[in-house]
Amino acid sequence: MPFEPDHDWLKETIRDIPDFPKEGIVFKDITPLLADKKAFTYTIDAIAHHFDRDAIDKVLGIEARGFMVAAPLAYRFTAGLIPVRKAGKLPWEIASQEYELEYGTDRLEIHRDAIEPGERILVVDDVLATGGTARATALLTEQCGGQVAGIATIMELAFLGGRSKLSGYEFFSLISY
Ligand code: AMP
Repeated sequence: MPFEPDHDWLKETIRDIPDFPKEGIVFKDITPLLADKKAFTYTIDAIAHHFDRDAIDKVLGIEARGFMVAAPLAYRFTAGLIPVRKAGKLPWEIASQEYELEYGTDRLEIHRDAIEPGERILVVDDVLATGGTARATALLTEQCGGQVAGIATIMELAFLGGRSKLSGYEFFSLISY
């Protein structure tokens, strides 16, 4: 079995906020991780280490905390950076993808020309919960002619089973709850 380093010490830098943004949700606050130079540098280095930089043309960050992880990764890979945003925020022509929320649906958008045909895209966010956001972003990438090179998050809320929505994609998370 390949050596997998233990990233669990990072959990010390993630703050649990019960009942935010609504009752029953334990919000995983990554601001202490971002503010800690050792933890932040390690997070970016460890995700970068997992992927082959030559196999990635662009890194895509999901609004908003995904941007904070995607941007330093893109720089590390000497790759381009793409923002995927909530509906109505992007100023140019868009492609969009709807996804299910607990109640109703929401929409993610990307600039139509952000991806060249065949480009290999690493999709990045802070947290994988139910997997709906990451899946919608992967579909959006493909809709624009890109190939999903992988999906990466700092943490996975494994008890929600989001990984099952990502079958067929390479998914990597540093830590798991
Ligand atoms: P999901 O589509 O359910 O996988 O939700 C993932 C998105 O919602 C990510 O962009 C996360 O930033 C955010 N998210 C979901 N659950 C949490 C949580 N418990 N703590 C922090 N962010 C969360």
